[in-house]
Amino acid sequence: MNSIPANISEHLQMSEEIIMPGSNEYEAARALYNAMLDKRPGCIVRCTNVDEVVATINYARDKDLLLAIRGGGHNGAGLGSCDGGLVLDTGAMKTITVDAEARTVSVEPGCTQGEVDTEASRYGLAVPAGIVSTTGIAGLTLGGGHGYLSRQYGLTIDNLIEAEVVLANGSIVMANENEHADLFWALRGGGGNFGVVTRFTFRAHPVAEVYAGPIFYDIAHAGEILRWYRDFLPTAPRKLSITLGIKTVPSTAPFPEEIWGRRICALIVCYNGSEEDGMAAMAAVREATPEPLMDGMMQMPFVAMQGLFDGLLPKGLQWYWKGDFVEEISDAAIADHIAHGSKSPSELSLMHLYPVDGAVHDVDAGETAWGGRTATWSMVIAGIDPDPAKAGALRDWAKGYWEAIHAHNRHGGAYVNFFSEDEDTARVKASYGDNYARLATVKRRYDPENLFRVNQNIDPKDAS
Ligand SMILES: Cc1cc2nc3c(=O)[nH]c(=O)nc-3n(C[C@H](O)[C@H](O)[C@H](O)COP(=O)(O)OP(=O)(O)OC[C@H]3O[C@@H](n4cnc5c(N)ncnc54)[C@H](O)[C@@H]3O)c2cc1C
Repeated sequence: MNSIPANISEHLQMSEEIIMPGSNEYEAARALYNAMLDKRPGCIVRCTNVDEVVATINYARDKDLLLAIRGGGHNGAGLGSCDGGLVLDTGAMKTITVDAEARTVSVEPGCTQGEVDTEASRYGLAVPAGIVSTTGIAGLTLGGGHGYLSRQYGLTIDNLIEAEVVLANGSIVMANENEHADLFWALRGGGGNFGVVTRFTFRAHPVAEVYAGPIFYDIAHAGEILRWYRDFLPTAPRKLSITLGIKTVPSTAPFPEEIWGRRICALIVCYNGSEEDGMAAMAAVREATPEPLMDGMMQMPFVAMQGLFDGLLPKGLQWYWKGDFVEEISDAAIADHIAHGSKSPSELSLMHLYPVDGAVHDVDAGETAWGGRTATWSMVIAGIDPDPAKAGALRDWAKGYWEAIHAHNRHGGAYVNFFSEDEDTARVKASYGDNYARLATVKRRYDPENLFRVNQNIDPKDAS
């Protein structure tokens, strides 16, 4: 592996600057969303169009440079950057085109999810994706993509119609059901292993107002609520998404001051429909659960719900997280959730169970590369705080909590976008299950030298 040639700018002509260590822009340009990770790339190349992506890939490959691809820079394990190598930053590629009649949305890879939401909402449409606006649409999609609309409309990849991809050999291909169908299959969950996606085309759905918001219960009710939730969720109408959290009320507005700092079991709810219909759907929930500390549900535009938690989670916090696919929640697991969840080291630290049932289960396990079709939830345990001095405590708590819960989870793998920086090949294989062998075959065909390896890596040598 070579280091970055000092005269890179002479060979690689870009419309934007190539950012080198020591330049004024370097510190800001290398910063990741997760400030616990401090990567120092040898250079950051800001591409503005497909031709520049091709030139950068060809250069990195020919000079034998370590290559990382950056979309939104949100990856919890910092896989949008690397130490010493070249970062191909797509952040300036932000064109979004909505075809309202065909209900499709085409986006370039530098878009955040919030930018896609805002543009699609102008036409009363939404692309099913995640729940925090600042997340990059590219990394989110390639890992799978789950959020409030998943139970109704599936994962983000279930709504991907086509991707334009620059391959390791520098060629540009379209991947869809008819062209490069094997690549299209692999891109839907297999991450950034196969090339740089320079355009995604999604199916969009009519979504306007939702009845949504958080409901907080005292942690003393967590056992009762978790037991109710594991049975209720699979029976809930698909328009109703309920994420369960074990967390703490942030000591800040808009939360009522009298409950700041209280340990809670939370339901984060989004009903895709009118307030009246949402209230009707929630009647069963409100009847079955105890008196909440706070019920913040109200009618709002879907984009408002998508950005509801942005203010609490700005760029630059310390994060350590680890995930798991969860097929069932036993009483023993509930006991461990309460034991660990109620001892979190900071107000922002959390455990979330995101629903991945409903429409996500309409797609067979082998139909896309994504490995979680048998799970009902995608779980994340995240230690989060602004203070770098707390990094060790955040990591220890999240790891200890995860180890206790992982022992109850049959699946063995996780949503790859919830990987920490210390996952190994066994975890990658467990996360893809029976799809791993096919992923390795596709990897060998499209990236036999493993140029794209700063990711949850599929080893082309594993192809049979
Ligand atoms: C606060 C927060 C909330 C989140 N909420 C959700 C959620 O609700 N639902 C959900 O599904 N996920 C969620 N995630 C996880 C998120 O999906 C991942 O962190 C994802 O990797 C972010 O994508 P990015 O483009 O911002 O990441 P980056 O760090 O830029 O890249 C991540 C990976 O994707 C690859 N990649 C990026 N762009 C491209 C491209 N154009 N072509 C090929 N490979 C590429 C990179 O090589 C890297 O391996 C959340 C993350 C955070 C931090």
